Amino acid sequence: MNLPASLKALSDMGKGEQPQKGQEEKKNQPGDDPKIPVEVRSSFVRGRNALVARARFSDLYEDYYLHLLQHGMQHTTDSDEMLKDALAALTLHLTSRPQNETAAWTVSIRKPLVNLFVAGSNHGNHGRITGRLFDPEGKREDINLFASQVSVPGAELRQSTVDFQAGDLFTGAETFYRKSEQRLGRYFRIGPEEFVLITAQPECDLDWLKSLDNAAVESLDQDEQLSLLERRFFTFGCGCEVSRIYQLFNPYGSDALDELFGEDTHLVIACPRCAARFEVTRAELDAYLESADAKPDSAQNQP
Ligand SMILES: [Zn+2]
Repeated sequence: MNLPASLKALSDMGKGEQPQKGQEEKKNQPGDDPKIPVEVRSSFVRGRNALVARARFSDLYEDYYLHLLQHGMQHTTDSDEMLKDALAALTLHLTSRPQNETAAWTVSIRKPLVNLFVAGSNHGNHGRITGRLFDPEGKREDINLFASQVSVPGAELRQSTVDFQAGDLFTGAETFYRKSEQRLGRYFRIGPEEFVLITAQPECDLDWLKSLDNAAVESLDQDEQLSLLERRFFTFGCGCEVSRIYQLFNPYGSDALDELFGEDTHLVIACPRCAARFEVTRAELDAYLESADAKPDSAQNQP
């Protein structure tokens, strides 16, 4: 029997990567929800008809590094920077969107070679952002891809994929704005951990928005008339716990699980959204799948 590819991928994510000593007692705990949110402010630029979202991400990055530490993960500098950029870019995007959206971006960049996933939500005034890296494999070598999934309660999932030739994560996000959102959105890095997103609103002064450089963005408060629209808060966190990991196994029967576990009594499974490691024993999994908690496909698209 062939093991379903998705299930195989799930177990491979965590294979050979046992939790480090001293982290054992934490492995099946809820992801220690982060304590310090970043505040993202959005403002409207009068006369230019553009929306500015900006924030300093130091606190969110601190929680991201605690997450890596807790689960024994190490990234290369390039991958790490790109994932942090993606967390910031998605947070600013979600601040610029109406509330109650859940968005996920999957980005493949060829140089440097980085595949990443970030997801977040802006429910209420306090959103959550998470993300992880993926092993770079099986992708075209000549093109960068930026895929977006957006879900809103009561509406169909919206999906789009755009490609771009060269550039970094922000180039990808700006291409997504241009090709998929069909309006101009520009990102600026105005400090090591401080970013700004400016998006065109109806009747935007596009020449002005296109002409902006970092210096102009840094002096926006002096040069333009800004009206504060909202303050939103975001924390780094996935919300995953072992019960959500069990839910990933809902579609599979005992034959597939027999093949997956083999002689092993337990496996280390990585959360598909944040790569947190969870130890899953066959006995606990069987008990879960027989219980009333097992509901089809309920682990997907959680904020
Ligand atoms: Zn997770």
